[in-house]
Amino acid sequence: MRLFPLFANLSQRRVLVIGGGAVAERKIKSLLVSDADITVGAPALTETLAELARQHRIQHLPGTFEENWLDGVWLVIAATDDRALNRQIAELAEQRRLLINVVDDPELSSFQVPSIVDRSPLTIAISSAGHAPVLARRVRERIESLFDHSIGALGALAARYRPAIRKARPDLRQRREFYDWMLDGPVADALKRQQPIEAEKWLEDGLASQTTAPQGKVLLVGAGPGDPGLLTLKALRALNEADVILYDRLVAPDILELARRDAVQIAVGKRPGENHDATQARIHALMLAHANQGHRVVRLKGGDAFIFGRGGEELQFLRAHGIAYEVVPGITAALACSAYAGVPLTHRDYAQSVTLVTAHCREGAMLEDWSALAREKQTLAFYMPVSQLEWLAEQLMTHGRSGETPFVIVENGTRPEQRVLQGRLKSLAQSAQANHIASPSLLLVGEVAGLAPDLEWFGASIKAGSLVPAD
Ligand code: SAH
Repeated sequence: MRLFPLFANLSQRRVLVIGGGAVAERKIKSLLVSDADITVGAPALTETLAELARQHRIQHLPGTFEENWLDGVWLVIAATDDRALNRQIAELAEQRRLLINVVDDPELSSFQVPSIVDRSPLTIAISSAGHAPVLARRVRERIESLFDHSIGALGALAARYRPAIRKARPDLRQRREFYDWMLDGPVADALKRQQPIEAEKWLEDGLASQTTAPQGKVLLVGAGPGDPGLLTLKALRALNEADVILYDRLVAPDILELARRDAVQIAVGKRPGENHDATQARIHALMLAHANQGHRVVRLKGGDAFIFGRGGEELQFLRAHGIAYEVVPGITAALACSAYAGVPLTHRDYAQSVTLVTAHCREGAMLEDWSALAREKQTLAFYMPVSQLEWLAEQLMTHGRSGETPFVIVENGTRPEQRVLQGRLKSLAQSAQANHIASPSLLLVGEVAGLAPDLEWFGASIKAGSLVPAD
């Protein structure tokens, strides 16, 4: 079951908490900040709750639960240690269409209270739907460390200046740019240094100065190999600020999920029957059209845009048309796949260099200097190798590389479905075929590949032709 998250305004609305022990006390403490009208029903209260009742911050209904306690109530929290009673309360609440949380009992609950990170007015809520509170708490700790408290002050400042900002920047795009400047620039910086007066001065100066109309721009962004955790912070920021995202087929859906909700997302992968040049021409035309409309375009590519990604050609095109651009590097498949397969690309004992090679090249071009590629003590990372495996192995062996040289193929590297095939060069094509290795896959050849059985740690691994799940 998936829960719908919401933030409720409980101010002056009656919330009934049943139970007067430590658990009820914890819930009531978190409710107090919401200014709710809190009633606690229980035969006896903890000392803290009794004190709150004496101060009239909560009301106490003494005794055991009665149905009429539910009259006039908006939300119910059952915090008794009597499951039968909790069930009875849950059923009555259900009949009255009251939302109820039975503490630590997701089955009986119709809502859950999330873990929160409080940076008022900013609140971050985390929920595991009541099933793994420990996990939610762990995530909360992480987030706590991610945002210092100045973000709360920044939110408060933004709230206070909201009408003035709206007036000075009536256009939505300009307003968004202003907020970006405010959140990323000197205003936020001053608040981090605990200089609120200076922050406000920066804000007022910023509002008074006239900015020019936004220029369209293209950000060439590497999305990494698939695992969204491998995006750079800069890439994430670019996705958050994009008006338009032109993305490749290789970009994982999880990554697009992170983009600004109202950004226009356009898939620009190769269409059936279309050749590569036509695809590229279409991408160029789209970048140009959107940038000319003043949009902030993110051109999102798998891995890194400058590694077998035609990123260079795209920049040359933008340059020729006078469009401003930035480049955000991404983690390329060779780096990511080697890391996730436990294959160090260099190693003092086994490899002093690494070469990234495409197994596909422009028609007619010869692939590299084979004798150089076939030398020992170096690692080769072949991109787009799947249809060329037999030929690659043959060329390497013909030019002197031993048939005993270890290889790994990393299929769907860094994604949940990652598979790593390990073997020796002489049986490369055969074992890939037997295991139905498909694209996207990266081939690593070299002595370092022999370390994979020892160092692997992620996903499934295939040895000697049979699929063995990694420990
Ligand atoms: N610019 C990309 C490469 C594009 S070429 C980068 O820097 O990674 C496409 C090839 O990259 C694929 O055929 C495959 O060889 C490799 N590749 C990309 N993502 C991959 C992944 N998740 N797992 C394995 N190989 C991948």
